[in-house]
Amino acid sequence: MRILLVEDDLTLSNQVRLALEEADYVVDLAENGRDAQYLGETEPFDAAILDLGLPLVDGITVLKSWRAQGICLPVLILTARDTWHEKVAGIDAGADDYLGKPFHMEELLARVRALIRRASGNASSVLICGAVRLDTRSGRVSVDGEPAVLTSHEFKVLSYLMHHQGEIVSRTTLTEHIYAQDFDRDSNTIEVFVGRLRKKIPSELIETVRGLGYRMRGPT
Ligand code: CA
Repeated sequence: MRILLVEDDLTLSNQVRLALEEADYVVDLAENGRDAQYLGETEPFDAAILDLGLPLVDGITVLKSWRAQGICLPVLILTARDTWHEKVAGIDAGADDYLGKPFHMEELLARVRALIRRASGNASSVLICGAVRLDTRSGRVSVDGEPAVLTSHEFKVLSYLMHHQGEIVSRTTLTEHIYAQDFDRDSNTIEVFVGRLRKKIPSELIETVRGLGYRMRGPT
């Protein structure tokens, strides 16, 4: 799952980035509204965390511009404390949720998880596919109740597929959602990760759709 983090306070953005990366998200950072606007228009993110007070273009303008273009990326806005009018303006501009500064990192992570879950149509924080259970809160995966030990990349691939059960997901899409923009991407590695995953979870749960990609078995 890939997050666009838009924050001009570098101390805060570093803390948030670290917390997100520790939770196995990949993060692209924009430090001003113009870069944010461009990245949101050109890269596929699973959610954005958007500060409102930004250099060059303010957060509300960025959000309005995305929404005007039909970009329905889930957006969590960061507002200054006790500024109810900012929250109202943000929600009216198309924000899905808000968080006032200062905040606890755990709360930010919980809100991001919920946004991504809802956007992919999953009501519960525990995703289940056959014998596989992925707890989005703890990042733990189990198969028939036994813990499965996954590498960070394997987890990222599985998490994306489990959020999108029943859908065909191309290698390109997976690549775009498990690597940040500045990373040297290679879609061939996806095959390697899927191959390893199939040894750790029941292999029939991840179907190869010839020429198109992969499909995690949907709910039956
Ligand atoms: Ca700011």
